[in-house]
Amino acid sequence: PVHGEPLLDVDKARKEFGGLVAVNDVGFSIRAGDIVGLIGPNGAGKSTTFNLVTGVLSLTAGDVRWRGRSIAGMPSRDIARLGISRTFQHVKMIPDMTVLENVALGGHLRGRAGTVRAMLRIDRDEERRLFAEAERQLARIGMADRMHELAGNLALGPQRLMEIARALCTDPALLLLDEPAAGLRHKEKQALAAVLRQLRDGGMSLLLVEHDMEFVMGLTDRIVVMEFGTRLMEGTPAEVQASPAVRAAYLGT
Ligand code: ADP
Ligand code: MG
Repeated sequence: PVHGEPLLDVDKARKEFGGLVAVNDVGFSIRAGDIVGLIGPNGAGKSTTFNLVTGVLSLTAGDVRWRGRSIAGMPSRDIARLGISRTFQHVKMIPDMTVLENVALGGHLRGRAGTVRAMLRIDRDEERRLFAEAERQLARIGMADRMHELAGNLALGPQRLMEIARALCTDPALLLLDEPAAGLRHKEKQALAAVLRQLRDGGMSLLLVEHDMEFVMGLTDRIVVMEFGTRLMEGTPAEVQASPAVRAAYLGT
């Protein structure tokens, strides 16, 4: 995508669970090169919004468009193929496999169902291709020197980076990160922020759900604030910090 090109349009997205309106006609857009934060109190509807974008949940009403075309109702793996990738809040890995194997396997699993079957089905050429891609992505985020370590031996910070490398294997234009800084030490947060900035500088767009305000404020261009399923406001980090409504709803001051 060309820098500034409209990528994602969330248009009056609505999700009801029985009588509960978890996401209430929420709209926002992401352009190529944006880093957008999605914040709000627990239960505000952030994860549900995330799941509506990635096809994990289907919309009750409204639309999600990718580069002008509706992706509503599309299966997750097709959405991933279009260029939207994600990480999960809780690191998914096989601890007694190497970092490289975990990343290679993730890239493969994205396109197919069933862990073990997928592992058994790949032929030599495909395996070689997956490992080359995994190695390339680990190098890209500065993890080349750790790729032969067992994933389970890594600290949380490097594990999160491993997840990002895995998400990068599908060559996304937009990467969604679910609380990437949660539980990280200060140094690890700084390393993560550097990697995310580097990805953005390479042309990738990022949407992150994150509770760490300092991390969000320092990294994002724009922030969407949600409360009770609705979009409370959208603005620059400075505008969000200055908003009395946001302070009342979220910052607790
Ligand atoms: P957040 O990520 O902002 O903390 P969520 O999107 O997880 O909020 O949840 C928004 C609301 O929707 C909450 O009230 C939550 O309990 C409800 N909710 C989320 N997922 C489901 C589900 N699968 N079934 C029923 N209610 C759900
Ligand atoms: Mg959540």
